[in-house]
Amino acid sequence: MNTPTYDVIIIGAGPAGSTAGNFLARAGHRVLVLEKETFPRFHIGESLLPADLSLFERLGVDMSDQGRFVHKAGAVFLDERSGERVRFDFSNGLPGTPPHAYQVERADFDLMLAQRAEQVGAELRFGTRAERVTVEAEGVSVSTSAGVFTARYLIDATGQNAFMAGQQRTRRRIDGLGLAAVGWHFEGLSEAATAELYEHGDILVFMVEDGWAWAIPLSGGRLSVGRVTSKRGVTEETLSEFVANSPTMQRLTAGAQRIERLTIGNYSYKNDAPSGARYACVGDSACFLDPVFSSGVTFAMIGAEKLADLLSSALQSGQEADPGLATPLLDFMQHAYDVFGSLCGRFYKANLVHNIFFYGAPDPAIKQGVVSVLAGDIYRDDNPFQKMLLSDRRRLRI
Ligand SMILES: Cc1cc2nc3c(=O)[nH]c(=O)nc-3n(C[C@H](O)[C@H](O)[C@H](O)COP(=O)(O)OP(=O)(O)OC[C@H]3O[C@@H](n4cnc5c(N)ncnc54)[C@H](O)[C@@H]3O)c2cc1C
Repeated sequence: MNTPTYDVIIIGAGPAGSTAGNFLARAGHRVLVLEKETFPRFHIGESLLPADLSLFERLGVDMSDQGRFVHKAGAVFLDERSGERVRFDFSNGLPGTPPHAYQVERADFDLMLAQRAEQVGAELRFGTRAERVTVEAEGVSVSTSAGVFTARYLIDATGQNAFMAGQQRTRRRIDGLGLAAVGWHFEGLSEAATAELYEHGDILVFMVEDGWAWAIPLSGGRLSVGRVTSKRGVTEETLSEFVANSPTMQRLTAGAQRIERLTIGNYSYKNDAPSGARYACVGDSACFLDPVFSSGVTFAMIGAEKLADLLSSALQSGQEADPGLATPLLDFMQHAYDVFGSLCGRFYKANLVHNIFFYGAPDPAIKQGVVSVLAGDIYRDDNPFQKMLLSDRRRLRI
């Protein structure tokens, strides 16, 4: 291989790829981002967590335009079969937990992040699909639909396509969580529904037979609705049935039109070789956890930031071929997977929601701790609820 053209090639311009691209380009590295689609494009994963707030600032993106992104104050969990309902407001977390998040149309959000990465110096090629990666002693080469590109390091940010896991056959399934999801967007909500949904901008998480369902208010009077099941073979009927049988959904979607539809694999997995000499995977290409607690975009972005930091120093000192370069990233993310894996595992066994969410924890510190975990504020050592999750010997291992 001749001297590589780029310092870093990033495959995928979702939240993980654009975040890594932004930080690396700003640090002065030559960055190429390859994206197979042309943005804006539809993507699932619309409810963000408060833990992203400070990251947005560091990335230099403005989330405050309420016509574009919806202010999300909290999360509501409800079981219409029993009438149980609980609302968590992010402002009630432990001291220091960021107080709110956003609901976003991913087409717009992902475009904004990608454009920002470009603005700060990353080169972005839409419509360019990575087809084969070869790691050599002097660098990596990526064969794509538009030719071959070379770099000193590769970041796989290909989401659920999990490019490197596919090439190396290292995707391992995590059992016991959701298997598939089906979703719709509604538009033309009634004034009453809009007022109700935008009052707090909360995500609604419904506990239903064999899984859960979501309702996420988006800007422009849109509502994203979806159903996840731990059984095989989710169909549109599964979602129709949920909407038809849910009094809340009947009220919120009365008179509205369905405009988008998606069916998507939702099973959780881990990539058992998420990094190696001259490459690392970040976001869903490293691990995908059932999205019941809306952790995906946050994990993609915090992981990308961590990797960019590690890689930037390694590139400066010429240490980027070190196969252990990403080890601190793996430890950092493992903590996140352990906390949310434990939470998701308990959700599917239903005792968490009933015992802690609905019946209320007697200890106020536990109550605050639940909110902080739900906010994604998980890198602190004073949260008794998080300690409980991590010390549970029967917890789901990720
Ligand atoms: C049903 C469901 C609901 C969800 N709800 C939420 C939620 O409410 N909140 C939340 O935070 N997360 C949610 N998620 C998870 C969220 O969608 C992902 O975690 C998040 O998008 C991961 O970001 P990423 O950057 O890793 O990957 P992606 O956002 O998937 O981006 C990857 C990019 O790589 C590109 N790409 C893939 N292969 C190639 C290739 N070979 N060459 C070039 N480009 C390529 C893709 O086109 C894509 O643009 C949900 C997921 C599912 C399945």
